[in-house]
Amino acid sequence: MRITIFGTGYVGLVTGTCLAEAGHEVMCMDVDSNKINGLMNGIVPIYEPGLEALVKQNVAEERLLFTADPAEAVGFGTLQFIAVGTPPDEDGSADLKYVLSVADTIAEHMQEYKLIIDKSTVPVGTADRVSEAIAQRLHQRDVDIPFDVCSNPEFLKEGSAVEDFSQGARIVIGCDSPRVEPLMRECYAPYNRRQEKLMFMDIRSAELTKYAANAMLATKISFMNEISNLAERLGADVENVRRGIGSDPRIGYSFIYPGCGYGGSCFPKDVQALARTATDVGYEAQLLNAVESVNYRQKASLFTKLSQALDGDLEGKTIAVWGLAFKPNTDDMREAPSRELMEAIWAAGGKVRAYDPEAMQECRRLYGERDDLALAKRRDDTLEGADALVICTEWKAFRTVDFRRLREQLTTPAIIDGRNLFNPESVRAAGLLYFAVGRADSL
Ligand code: NAD
Repeated sequence: MRITIFGTGYVGLVTGTCLAEAGHEVMCMDVDSNKINGLMNGIVPIYEPGLEALVKQNVAEERLLFTADPAEAVGFGTLQFIAVGTPPDEDGSADLKYVLSVADTIAEHMQEYKLIIDKSTVPVGTADRVSEAIAQRLHQRDVDIPFDVCSNPEFLKEGSAVEDFSQGARIVIGCDSPRVEPLMRECYAPYNRRQEKLMFMDIRSAELTKYAANAMLATKISFMNEISNLAERLGADVENVRRGIGSDPRIGYSFIYPGCGYGGSCFPKDVQALARTATDVGYEAQLLNAVESVNYRQKASLFTKLSQALDGDLEGKTIAVWGLAFKPNTDDMREAPSRELMEAIWAAGGKVRAYDPEAMQECRRLYGERDDLALAKRRDDTLEGADALVICTEWKAFRTVDFRRLREQLTTPAIIDGRNLFNPESVRAAGLLYFAVGRADSL
């Protein structure tokens, strides 16, 4: 099949590359011509395990093409995936300007039937808006060309995006035309061999499914953070509580790790957008609003604990920060807890010496050169003479530490661990102060 993908971010590039790997002919289009030029030369703009090798291989085999030319992109595929960003608008709702701009581009250039597939996360009713926008533009062009719009939300996670796309639990497709199902079956046939993964449903349910999934996961995180805040005040250890509840199969172990709050490009904006959708239909989404405010408080807790450890005085202090990405195995720093922490440190007159295995370039891009930010080449280069250490991301490489050596390197011997990486007794036995999440003496 010939397939066009609009947007070469985490979702678009992974979708395009995986579909090419599955044997389709794919053309990826982006308005960012730097990205496209790089990709044409084998430079993958994001870090995602396994992606670079797949891009190079499929480019070499000429199944994966890149273009910045909209007419060429529209002319290429019968299937036209929209995988552009849907950032939050000022009122929290999803901003659809990129999605609608792609709809306009497709309608401007299409000469024959196209199936437009919405892969971006978009509010319920967006497929209707995309349809209307295309119909209007075709009318202006005074042409009558058939098309369908369907919803195919994406559930991949950054950090394991290639694996998730190839081995995802389900492929949700919302459609209302008999022309769509056979085309989508053909597109996803390579992923639908062992068991039936395709779930066809009406478009509005498909659109809501994506928000419901993210809101559910965010709710689990905020719930566990709420329990951890209680544990801290009650002298309990949330890690014991986690094991205790996770063993119940009705609850399960996944997504119940306490921490310093969720970040990334999806949970914060999707919870907000769903709450906003609720308001628009006259319903107050009490639970969603609480999930968001618990998360907001949790992200701020890293700085609160750091400040307590340093007796409220950060002026001129240097803080070692391990982990900048919002989670391991990605370079994405959107809404990352590290950002809130660093910005609070700077506002209090402190300096940051940070390390992350993948997100250093992204950090440089976001904050540029500044006197109060040093990026260390290695994890342990952050430590010598630092006043305290804060851990924001649970990279594997942060789990093994020589606490006695660390005790000698830090001026104030304090670790603020936003991810509960260590055994509190081992840390404290080395003479360090240890402030974790939801564990005794962590307040
Ligand atoms: P991203 O910001 O990484 O990439 C979006 C890309 O779209 C950018 O390269 C941008 O230049 C390009 N773009 C913007 N306007 C364009 C246009 N008119 N034509 C062509 N390209 C255009 O975004 P992302 O993280 O890949 O997310 C895309 C969508 O998928 C969002 O709606 C997001 O909520 C959803 N989603 C993201 C994830 C994730 O983990 N990142 C997972 C599931 C769903």
